[in-house]
Amino acid sequence: MNGRRSVSVLGATGSVGQTTCALLAEAPDAFRVEALTGNCNAAAMIRSARALRPAFVAMADPAAAAAVRDDLAGLGIEVAGGESAVLAAADRPADWVMAAIVGAAGLAPTLAAVRRGATIALANKESLVCAGHLLTAEAKATGSRLLPVDSEHNAIFQVFDGARPESVHRIILTASGGPFRTCSLAEMAAATPAQALRHPNWDMGAKITIDSATMFNKGLELIEAGHLFAMPEDRIDVVVHPQSIVHSLVSYRDGSVLAQLGLPDMRTPVAVTLYWPERAACAVEHLDLTRMGDLTFEAPDPTRFPALDQARQAMKAGGTAPAVLNAANEAAVHAFLAGEIGFLDIPAIVAICQDRVSPAPLDGLDAVWEADRLARAAAGEAIRQRRKVILPARAAQ
Ligand code: NAD
Ligand code: MG
Repeated sequence: MNGRRSVSVLGATGSVGQTTCALLAEAPDAFRVEALTGNCNAAAMIRSARALRPAFVAMADPAAAAAVRDDLAGLGIEVAGGESAVLAAADRPADWVMAAIVGAAGLAPTLAAVRRGATIALANKESLVCAGHLLTAEAKATGSRLLPVDSEHNAIFQVFDGARPESVHRIILTASGGPFRTCSLAEMAAATPAQALRHPNWDMGAKITIDSATMFNKGLELIEAGHLFAMPEDRIDVVVHPQSIVHSLVSYRDGSVLAQLGLPDMRTPVAVTLYWPERAACAVEHLDLTRMGDLTFEAPDPTRFPALDQARQAMKAGGTAPAVLNAANEAAVHAFLAGEIGFLDIPAIVAICQDRVSPAPLDGLDAVWEADRLARAAAGEAIRQRRKVILPARAAQ
């Protein structure tokens, strides 16, 4: 039993979380699972807990916790429910923690693991967007290492010369362009949740899939990259690359450009963080460039995809502006998935919130929560206005 690395997975029932659990299940001699967390999905948690036998399981939803507790009775696994249980899971002594909760809900648990000095595999980009300076300062103070899981940032991490950051000219993030890359504005205005959830290359959770369709995902990733690699907004470019083979690039001062390539499969970036600084075999399909066809690159269209400029604006404004952007987007995505607003209302609602909620200095977590609250309130009001237009129109169809 000795010599196994202790690990926890926050957001274990989601897309990245389940990918992580599958990699852990393939290497039982290398890892001991301390804690798994989920929200409502009891069935996924039960499966993963039976396979990985963690010491502790937390479900944010108390009813789901009760169902998991009943099922796992007699296996010696402690099960708890509620937000405080998720925080307690992050606090437990695991060396490596996968932070894969979606949205601002992941911030407090991720920060708790950072405060213990754990190595963090960071998928939960929203926590960096909302509180990047707080998280990176805390990581520096405790010696916690942030290893990016997001495929673009994982790519940059692999080719970025962290010892000589001054040698880097620019960072170039690639974007697939999502399902509406070639659609007209009129087609986008009429897009349904089912169409927006059909990502051409990646199989992911619902929120990030909608973010990919609006390109808010790339906007959040710009801000994420700024924090992870200490780069200002004007030194991070975005290029649309519909095949999702080149995961991102670093342009050096001498004209060299280093890129990381691979098939679009999250097992690779998760494995990079799990075994870092070593590399381990991973049962992914390997890239054969001769079978890939053309790899193409194009500039993003700011008219159909205003999200990138909106994120740049928030990044330049600083303070709590990115937290406002994030909360407004979370609320708008939720309303779009519920059929309450149209697809193009998502950037429109974020713009309204950016106008209405002035950024404050990011002097602590309270400032983040206040910005989050104000942005959700402003978004809620804008959503109610639009609902009055959309729902009667649908009923009349
Ligand atoms: P998902 O929706 O599939 O899973 C989200 C997880 O968070 C689930 O385990 C869910 O139970 C948990 N969760 C949700 N709300 C919660 C709450 N209030 N309290 C506690 N737990 C809660 O999402 P995903 O696609 O796996 O994405 C997770 C994170 O990783 C996101 O930040 C996303 O942007 C990032 N990411 C995902 C991918 C991907 O391929 N899916 C790629 C890059 C980055
Ligand atoms: Mg990404």
